Amino acid sequence: MSSEDHKPSLNFIEQFIEEDLKSGKHDKIQTRFPPEPNGYLHIGHAKAIVVNFEMAKKYNGNCNLRFDDTNPEKEKVDYVDGIKADVKWLGYKWGETLYTSDYFGQLFDWAVQLIKDGKAYVDDQTAEEMSANRGTPSEPSKPSPYRNRPVEENLRLFTEMKEGKHAEGSKVLRAKVDLTSPNMLMRDPALYRIKNNAHHRTGTEWHVYPMYDFAHGQSDSIEHVTHSLCTLEFENHRPLYEWFIKELDIYPSRQIEFARLNLSYTITSKRKLLKLVEDGHVTGWDDPRMPTLIAMRRRGFPPKAIVSFAQKVGVAKRNNIIDVALLEFSIREELNKTANRVFGVLNPVKLIIENYPEGKVDMMKAVNNPEDETAGTRDMPFSRELYIDRSDFMENPPSPKKFFRLGPDREVRLKYGYIIKCTGYEKDTDGNITLIKAEYFPDTRSGQDTSGKKVKGTLSWVSAKEAVDAEIRLYDRLFLEENPANSENITDSLNPDSLSIVKGAKIEPSVANLKMGETVQFERQGYFTIDKESSESNLVFNRTITLRDSWAKSQKK
Ligand code: ATP
Ligand code: MG
Repeated sequence: MSSEDHKPSLNFIEQFIEEDLKSGKHDKIQTRFPPEPNGYLHIGHAKAIVVNFEMAKKYNGNCNLRFDDTNPEKEKVDYVDGIKADVKWLGYKWGETLYTSDYFGQLFDWAVQLIKDGKAYVDDQTAEEMSANRGTPSEPSKPSPYRNRPVEENLRLFTEMKEGKHAEGSKVLRAKVDLTSPNMLMRDPALYRIKNNAHHRTGTEWHVYPMYDFAHGQSDSIEHVTHSLCTLEFENHRPLYEWFIKELDIYPSRQIEFARLNLSYTITSKRKLLKLVEDGHVTGWDDPRMPTLIAMRRRGFPPKAIVSFAQKVGVAKRNNIIDVALLEFSIREELNKTANRVFGVLNPVKLIIENYPEGKVDMMKAVNNPEDETAGTRDMPFSRELYIDRSDFMENPPSPKKFFRLGPDREVRLKYGYIIKCTGYEKDTDGNITLIKAEYFPDTRSGQDTSGKKVKGTLSWVSAKEAVDAEIRLYDRLFLEENPANSENITDSLNPDSLSIVKGAKIEPSVANLKMGETVQFERQGYFTIDKESSESNLVFNRTITLRDSWAKSQKK
């Protein structure tokens, strides 16, 4: 590192940008996030969004939202709307909303210009012929027999293609670049193909549509994008990107590539995610197990956590796989600060405090969020009949050093309540515990404890009469393989237990006021978010995430 490298913290994109600002090439940065509206955005896109918007923010520039809508058969207005909602949800405001389809006229004119300059020709070869003539990186392509078509003929044919006078697949427009280039993309790449599908914005106006390489860079130029940030798979497209800038003499946007986000146990490909939806492996794009932003929102992942995750990942020049545990960490980190605590019992068993007066309901003060004083306190009803979780009681518990919770004759504290002692229990014929009996010690009330009693275990509980019933949807990873994209068929690695539904959970009554999308922590359990299918008569929570990484722990065993 040279002594001039006084800003070692800049990433390579920032270095390029600062270089271009310093040299006076630009005085303002313009970036864009360019999704194709052929599906909903996933966590990988979140990274591209964060990179583009944060660069613009950092250098006092602007980031636009551009829909790269050049494949009419796969694109839909629903996806356009979904993408806008997702970017907004992440907290970003874009400058303009732009569509590559708005440039179809300009792109067509540029193609005509290339034809007139002798730099593009209409090729009638079949796809098979073209691929047979392609050669290899070390062996040049064989020129198409149509490569030297006269300009007038090319112009006439290309116009006819546009007007729908030729069948799909019968002709393409190709650039005349270099048939000997070791970069196969430079060997007379296709610029336009014939398609007769209606486009979601331009209808049936066009019968030719530009290829990615003749649309993306040109759109960047039209919009004066200073830094076109894209993923590494476009690195070998850069020479072509620059060739068009030179040949068309258009605004010189600079393409910079960074590594895609690959996440363990996760698929980040819209095409494959669409397949999961179409084949019914999930209930839709917003199934809370999906890695889409719309699903993460439904599940209760805070947008701030996703942005913070993307920032922690940073930008790299080499592809790698990021551990999904880092995303989970970011979610817990954020929810720990923001989610109110409540008591919820997923697998309830009744606890009767036999020496507590019947019919008496006392209000216990509970702290909403120990991480946030401003969140205040709430009153929780306490009574003779409570529910605790089945897993908090053992008939024959191991030594109190290993199991702090309840068992015959054992004492525990009911958090915000009293210390109780188990005095008995009942079982059904299958051996399931159906009732636990206890006595409480009136002088052990939390905050006013004068007993001097010490217990190790503290349990959460809800008052039986006041508790509300809820359905809880527990999610686990959708894929069992660390890199599911590697499987021949991604469905082979689907986790059959990725969803389990708990009915009849008992939650403290304060949750009745929660709105769709609100997240709370069930103490000692995890974070839970009200699902969109929740109603007054059927409260439904999604488990957003467990408190600790129980999954990784169970794998180690
Ligand atoms: P997919 O294969 O999922 O359809 P894509 O790259 O075709 O992905 P686009 O809609 O074209 O999807 O992507 C919009 C932008 O998001 C592009 O700049 C693309 O490079 C970027 N992007 C897509 N997936 C990722 C990812 N996993 N990590 C980082 N950026 C991504
Ligand atoms: Mg794409």
